[in-house]
Amino acid sequence: MRSRYSAFVKHEIDYIVQTTALGQQQALDVKAISDWSKANQWLSLEVVQAQEKLDKNHAQVEFKAHFHDGQQAQIHHEVSHFVQHDGVWYFLDPTTDQPITMKQPCICGSAKKFKQCCAQFL
Ligand SMILES: [Zn+2]
Repeated sequence: MRSRYSAFVKHEIDYIVQTTALGQQQALDVKAISDWSKANQWLSLEVVQAQEKLDKNHAQVEFKAHFHDGQQAQIHHEVSHFVQHDGVWYFLDPTTDQPITMKQPCICGSAKKFKQCCAQFL
């Protein structure tokens, strides 16, 4: 989570893509992410709270990213969810415009159905 923030600060968009849930990477709007990363001056990351064990393989992090948009200071406040797959944590992006059915294999790569895995966190 902190590493994703650092990547954002440094405009390392490839890292942002690679640390998003495997089944969502294709659906990311890479240009929009890149533009937002570059349009602002990123000042600091404040982790409000983290719950590392929502269940066996999901975690929640609430954070505030402080930035300056060129006109005034702003705070991006977000509650993010992460899923662990093969020992690596991936971000679950709630903003991807991608049809997912409840019965399909989960986007995180687990062998479970979406409904029984990441659906509750998106
Ligand atoms: Zn899943």
